[in-house]
Amino acid sequence: MRWLCAAIFLASCSTATPPATATFSAPTPTLTLLAPTQTATSLPTSLPTSTQTATPIPCDPLTADFCISAGGILFQRPILPPNNDQVDRIYPYASTERGTRDPHHGVEFVNPLGTPVYTAGAGVVIFAGPDDVAIYSPWRMYYGNLVVIEHENNLFTLYAHLSKIVVQAGETVKAGEQIGEVGQSGVAIGSHLHFEVRRGDVEDYSSTMNPELWLTPRPSFGMLAFALFDAEMRFQRAAITLEQRSDADEILNVYYLETYHRSLALGEENAAIGDLPAGRYRLAFIYNGKMYERQIEVESGKRTDVVIIAR
Ligand SMILES: [Zn+2]
Repeated sequence: MRWLCAAIFLASCSTATPPATATFSAPTPTLTLLAPTQTATSLPTSLPTSTQTATPIPCDPLTADFCISAGGILFQRPILPPNNDQVDRIYPYASTERGTRDPHHGVEFVNPLGTPVYTAGAGVVIFAGPDDVAIYSPWRMYYGNLVVIEHENNLFTLYAHLSKIVVQAGETVKAGEQIGEVGQSGVAIGSHLHFEVRRGDVEDYSSTMNPELWLTPRPSFGMLAFALFDAEMRFQRAAITLEQRSDADEILNVYYLETYHRSLALGEENAAIGDLPAGRYRLAFIYNGKMYERQIEVESGKRTDVVIIAR
């Protein structure tokens, strides 16, 4: 397992700069390994307001409370404002709707019929049309009208349940180019875009990644990737509560996330959430009857990695 980590700045989050919109002309970035300027086991109650410069020394999430990095390759959103460009929190990636459905392999952007859908990155359209041959899932017409785009670095994006498709297989597309419109074709409840990111064998239904870690955060927002392991470094399940805290330790926001179903534990994390407001958080969960908690930071435009090994 290779962790890509960068500096932890315990400075004002307003000093962080959101990344420019990524394109796929660049190769996978090799990140400079950086480390926290101070150990984050006990956060100061009031954060320094001056800009701090981090010393580039390694940050290892297996030993640090959290590591913050620029993250990897990021896509732009397939839905653009003023339409709803936010991932639906009710049915996130890997959700089984309390055990009532198969694990969700993508995320939803809930929007009215006819809302324009755009490419998340530059690439080549490898599929455009009705999903009546069950290539990308085990079921015919599961995705309805579907567009699949191949990007660099063996990455793919899927856009499902479309009402209209305006590209053809074989076509080269730029980032942000319109490919169709939101619909509810296939197995869909209400009109929405179902969006997936896959890596490796695109026709393997289990090759999906959590799209929340592949979308550029909105300004002033960052993302969190979490992993819970047992002593043998096997992914474990838990229901996690994330409380955003003010400098006075008041709870500002509460988020809940579930670890992935085992069939989807493909990446380095087994839970993730994008679009978290930059700030301080208390992360807590119960595993095997024991309470675990961490104080962590989320920075604008950055990725926070948290790893907990339950012993
Ligand atoms: Zn979906």
